[in-house]
Amino acid sequence: MTELVKGKIKSIVGDKNYLDSYEDRLCYSFDATPIYKQLPEAVIFPDDEVQISKVLKLANQESFNVVPRGAGTGLSGGSVPVENCVVIVMTKWNKILEIDNANLTATVQPGVVTGVLQSEVEKSGLFYPPDPGSLNVCTIGGNVANNAGGLRGLKYGVTKNYVLGTEMILPNGDLLKTGGKNVKDTAGYNLRDFIVGSEGTLGIITRIILKLIPKPTRSVTMLAFFDKLNNSANAVTKIIASHITPSMMEFLDHTTINCVEDYTHIGLPRNSDSVLLIEVDGRGSIVDEDAERIINILKMSGAAVVKKAGNEVEALTLRTARRSAFSALARLRPTTILEDTTVPRSELPVMIEKVSEAGRKFDVMFGNFGHAGDGNLHPTCLTDENNVDELNRAHKAFDFIFNEAIKLGGTITGEHGTGLAKKNFLESVAGIPGVDMMKKIKSVIDENNILNPILLRFFLIPK
Ligand SMILES: Cc1cc2nc3c(=O)[nH]c(=O)nc-3n(C[C@H](O)[C@H](O)[C@H](O)COP(=O)(O)OP(=O)(O)OC[C@H]3O[C@@H](n4cnc5c(N)ncnc54)[C@H](O)[C@@H]3O)c2cc1C
Repeated sequence: MTELVKGKIKSIVGDKNYLDSYEDRLCYSFDATPIYKQLPEAVIFPDDEVQISKVLKLANQESFNVVPRGAGTGLSGGSVPVENCVVIVMTKWNKILEIDNANLTATVQPGVVTGVLQSEVEKSGLFYPPDPGSLNVCTIGGNVANNAGGLRGLKYGVTKNYVLGTEMILPNGDLLKTGGKNVKDTAGYNLRDFIVGSEGTLGIITRIILKLIPKPTRSVTMLAFFDKLNNSANAVTKIIASHITPSMMEFLDHTTINCVEDYTHIGLPRNSDSVLLIEVDGRGSIVDEDAERIINILKMSGAAVVKKAGNEVEALTLRTARRSAFSALARLRPTTILEDTTVPRSELPVMIEKVSEAGRKFDVMFGNFGHAGDGNLHPTCLTDENNVDELNRAHKAFDFIFNEAIKLGGTITGEHGTGLAKKNFLESVAGIPGVDMMKKIKSVIDENNILNPILLRFFLIPK
């Protein structure tokens, strides 16, 4: 990028919103996904929609790329810069514009941190359920762009189930508004749902209207320890089949239990093969009845110990321990590759075994944990990117895992998005016609392919 073009960008956003020193660019050259890195030409923090629109128009004129970024916690490389690009960071757009008690909605800017929004709405007795493990850092904009899930996905769904409306600056600089506060709206194509999960490739989201629900008043949190990993997977299947829908049903394998215990010191039994963290919530006595039924199923499925959290502090400790699984595993080896394989829930026991098989077959170390209740596993390979041979084996292990998941009717990502990390597998899931349609949509909305051209790289890179 020439100094002249950089000067034009700086004159649009102002000196205070523009960075291009080597050190600053380095800080925005990666996200939470290991291995993928690329220095951007500049990093900008626009103040308003007009500045974003002008930068995008300039990108079309001067042929540079633009990569939107929230908090950079993405695990598929979605906000990793591309060649000749400017990173637009949206974290300054952090205002909760309205909490509407009459319509049960929140209108927010995209840079609002997910956990902050949750705490704010809970003050009004309301509830915003999507809760990625990264909720204390990640932004709502990143959640919408990736259609993020979380621990409560089983009962409450994922981000797309709570997006009522969006405002977005299109790659040509126009403002697109979709949806609104209406509970029902069938006017035209459903463009709103199309934007959710678009991974920063179709526009820069500048405003989001979210659906809120009444906050549950009662919850029971349980922990079950198993000597045999397969028993815990079967317990998950049995609980789902018994028509109880817990708000949370999280799984940790032996390696993850030990890493979490090293990190949190909360007394997890180190010799257990697996742990299930289960929570039921709602209103009234039905919550306790469901908890009792679940405890019976856990015992009948071979749980060695089943514990109930005595109070909210204890429950919070258990949830926090589960949320720390990724960070705890990351302490073991220099490089942590966490994936997002998802299978129909009935196939969970098979998929858990396939992850163990991948570790044995390719001689690499895996920790495995995830949102067992919705079939979403996070097989995590603990490796070292400086050891080329080991890294190659890790990639082969993931290829094996993805292929096995697809054979079971599953998918390559349940909540982290395709990004750079899984672009080569998109066709196996979406099919040639599916990818072809995505390519056509992208080329109509982003004629010059300036915005986060992940898909372009997908098509150009030979498999
Ligand atoms: C410890 C840890 C735990 C995690 N747990 C979970 C989990 O439980 N569930 C889950 O789903 N994810 C999880 N994640 C992944 C990650 O936090 C989510 O994908 C999150 O949605 C990313 O938000 P972000 O603000 O960091 O976005 P970024 O990583 O900055 O960006 C993500 C994508 O969104 C695009 N984007 C960002 N802002 C905008 C915008 N305003 N307009 C258009 N596009 C935009 C980017 O271009 C990129 O493609 C976890 C990550 C970590 C590190």
